[in-house]
Amino acid sequence: MIEDRYSRQRRFAPIGDSGQSQLQNAHVLIVGAGALGSGNAELLTRSGVGTITIVDRDYVEWSNLQRQSLYCEQDAVEQLPKAVAAARRLGQINSAVTVNAIVMDCTGADLAQLVETSGVDIIVDGTDNFETRYLINDAAYRYRIPWIYGACSGSYGAVRSFIPGKTPCLHCLQAAIPERAASCDADGIIAPTVQMVVSLQSAEVLKWLTANREEMSERYTVFDQWSNYYQSIRITEQQRRAACPTCGEHPIHSYLKTDESMKLEVLCGRKTVSIRPPKLGQLDLNQLVDQARRLTPLVTGNPYLMQIVEDDHRLVIFKDGRALIHGTDDLAKAKNLYVRYLGEPATIGGT
Ligand SMILES: [Zn+2]
Repeated sequence: MIEDRYSRQRRFAPIGDSGQSQLQNAHVLIVGAGALGSGNAELLTRSGVGTITIVDRDYVEWSNLQRQSLYCEQDAVEQLPKAVAAARRLGQINSAVTVNAIVMDCTGADLAQLVETSGVDIIVDGTDNFETRYLINDAAYRYRIPWIYGACSGSYGAVRSFIPGKTPCLHCLQAAIPERAASCDADGIIAPTVQMVVSLQSAEVLKWLTANREEMSERYTVFDQWSNYYQSIRITEQQRRAACPTCGEHPIHSYLKTDESMKLEVLCGRKTVSIRPPKLGQLDLNQLVDQARRLTPLVTGNPYLMQIVEDDHRLVIFKDGRALIHGTDDLAKAKNLYVRYLGEPATIGGT
């Protein structure tokens, strides 16, 4: 007989047998499979959460391995999308957990659809930017699903639970969120800080899913591990703004509206431009690799993405038509390179 892998967790009285069953029937959505997303995914998979959906737009690079606990060298060699590499590793950790891996740059409309149709119980913030957090915030409050904010940069970390109907939302607390929570690759990051944020986030998820909701933190927790600073700031119902566009009296959830424009964005601290065409599709990567090789010899690919190296630039083009142009922060230059290999963005993935 196989020993019950959850025996120690069952013995923890607030969870017990009933909590373990609740975890088995739960569905967690993790947005982002970087440091925070992969850490949460690992802990929740080991805990026996029944279904985990993990969404990420990026692929594994060597600079991720220092802190992104699910990935190994082979993932970086293969340049696997993080969602795919994460699902593979999570399946090895606990084969009883259903893991849905989605390689996608979440728009508001995508996220709204995912939250509305997939029956998720809670959302974990594994992102590194406020733009996506506002999407999560809108989707969570529209569909009344809690979400657990997490941020880290350098040795600084922050965690906050947002519960629709109970707590003010991220918009309401803008003034209470310190500037330093805006993470940026330029500031660097140490792995222990990642794990501390992950740990606080995952504990909140376990409390929510096992009917220990009254134990959830009503505070905004911030810390700096290097200077040994730890604080939790009390958040009260009085901080809700009646005019809040997300949780106020007349919410509009503007972040969930579809954006039809092409999106070019310089990724902070990475000397990389991210390009998202107006319409995503499914590219024929084999054909594109052949085409690109007529222009330059340094072209490689896997089933999920292709890479082109040209002078000091490296283009990574995903199957859905998105691209990362490494080696520049010049938007015009990046767009020219994109068009050179893929044509005008309006025509990408039309079918
Ligand atoms: Zn609000």
